[in-house]
Amino acid sequence: MNIIFLGPPGAGKGTQAQLLTRELGIPQISTGDMLRKAMREGTKTGLEAKRYVESGGLVPDDVVIAIVKERLAEDDCKGGYMLDGFPRTVYQADELSKFAQIDAAVDLELADEVIIERLSGRRVCPNCNATYHTSQLGGSTVCKNCGAGLIQRKDDMEETIRNRLKVYKEQTAPLIEYYRNKGILREINCVGTVDEIFALVKRALEA
Ligand code: AMP
Repeated sequence: MNIIFLGPPGAGKGTQAQLLTRELGIPQISTGDMLRKAMREGTKTGLEAKRYVESGGLVPDDVVIAIVKERLAEDDCKGGYMLDGFPRTVYQADELSKFAQIDAAVDLELADEVIIERLSGRRVCPNCNATYHTSQLGGSTVCKNCGAGLIQRKDDMEETIRNRLKVYKEQTAPLIEYYRNKGILREINCVGTVDEIFALVKRALEA
């Protein structure tokens, strides 16, 4: 099954996609993770993406489309995959439809105030990608999985979050209608625990 995760930043796309990866045994393809890796490694794509990612804007369509197209051609995607953070514009969705057949678009929705509280307290492990909220850490600053020092992403600062939400509403939210019109949209209201939301995601995909 080829699945897309839609929804504003901070709605839990990454977390739910990770759980679904384990359940279905298909790869999670996160354009945000791929771009951050390219930035850390200082590749041409990384250098091109840096200023957009750090300000909360969108990286140019053609840059992102190229990395997704290349990734989907790899062997582990043959049995299905989950796209997390792509497409983010109608142009990206149109281009994607030229090289991929999408079976379901899961839209995770959440109110702005909850998103801001969630993202501004988010801390991530630069080593293993584990994600935490400051409220779970009891003052600790290291990753429970691998012991690396946790960091706050630059784009998780409050002002940048507000910009990301604005960009989401203007450029990405139209995709909800886009996939509804294709008859493959599954909408989920993300209130509840991670496990409760995951149960909703699974039910929506079985429907
Ligand atoms: P994410 O981790 O999905 O929130 O992505 C972090 C940042 O990477 C975004 O704020 C954008 O700057 C960039 N990015 C990720 N995916 C895309 C995409 N599909 N199109 C354009 N920019 C993207």
